[in-house]
Amino acid sequence: MQELKNKTILVTGGAGFIGSHLCRKLLKESNNNNVICLDNFFTGSKKNIADLIDNKNFEVIRHDIEEPIQLEVEQIYNLACPASPQHYQFDKIKTLKTNVLGAINILDLAKQAKARVLQASTSEVYGDPLEHPQNEIYNGNVKTIGPRSCYDEGKRAAETLFGDYHKELGMDTRIVRIFNTYGPYMDVNDGRVVSNFIMQGLYNQDITIYGNGSQTRSFQYIDDLLDGIVKMMNNENNFYGPVNIGSLEEFTVKELAEIIIDMIPNCKSKIVYKELPQCDPKKRRPDISLAKKMLDWEPKIKLEEGLKKTIEYFKSIL
Ligand code: NAD
Ligand code: UDP
Repeated sequence: MQELKNKTILVTGGAGFIGSHLCRKLLKESNNNNVICLDNFFTGSKKNIADLIDNKNFEVIRHDIEEPIQLEVEQIYNLACPASPQHYQFDKIKTLKTNVLGAINILDLAKQAKARVLQASTSEVYGDPLEHPQNEIYNGNVKTIGPRSCYDEGKRAAETLFGDYHKELGMDTRIVRIFNTYGPYMDVNDGRVVSNFIMQGLYNQDITIYGNGSQTRSFQYIDDLLDGIVKMMNNENNFYGPVNIGSLEEFTVKELAEIIIDMIPNCKSKIVYKELPQCDPKKRRPDISLAKKMLDWEPKIKLEEGLKKTIEYFKSIL
């Protein structure tokens, strides 16, 4: 019988919302996976990975990817970067450094280790899109000096680096453009719309819609995203991306508020309208034809099903 080889997988940003789920999934998938979670704990938390600490195949390294690091690994998921606008705008220069210097350091680590490396990019590379839905050919509509630029341009530059390390140095790099994702382990103070609305609903506080609520997003449940990024990492078809991974179900922010109010029993929250942040994208929905064709991937979980699990999680930690 062929003996399965141990594989060491690095997850940067592994203590964050998506990263902690990914570490858990990789450990569950195979006893041959050793998972290293690397994080500077800016938005991540030890609580997110508390259930993994005793697993003999799991290790944690406190490190900032702005600094170089060398490790013996076979695969790297580069997720390190705050994702909520409130957090990535807290120190904009640091966000840009995380994306650019961080990408260089992680690519150099991958080069040295001869590892396959996947970049968690974002739908924000399309900015405030003028094409709808967004496919991977569309170049986006992004400001260089707006409040979201540190994140949007940082992620765009990281994609360029991943592309050039692949083309110029022959490295095995992959790029996934993640659309709005939600689920358990989102931080309660994260500031993103799903966690805000659920917390406000559970506490019977006002639900804060920014602007008139007509802006749209397509919300994908975490399990669908994880399937997509693991498929992208492990595809052996020389498919490097970038590839969109997101939900096709598009809702206005007002619709989302109404759905969440309806789903929380005896919710007495009222909708209130606050100022719309500058450069807030008006609509967003992925074209996922490429992911379907190349990865045989499409999302399976409907919004209400995912929200139900997420509301249960938030209730359980209150
Ligand atoms: P998150 O904020 O919960 O997690 C990010 C993690 O990265 C945290 O644990 C944080 O402490 C860590 N981190 C930040 N800067 C770091 C640095 N310089 N060095 C080391 N660690 C650092 O966010 P998330 O939602 O889990 O997002 C993970 C990745 O996915 C991010 O790269 C984000 O841009 C991308 N993404 C997420 C979404 C989404 O909807 N959640 C959408 C598009 C892209
Ligand atoms: N939003 C809102 N109320 C909130 C938080 C966010 O109306 O309490 C809006 C926000 O302005 C945006 C959408 O919801 O139009 C999604 O915001 P989020 O921060 O979750 O993600 P992103 O803007 O990065 O897609």
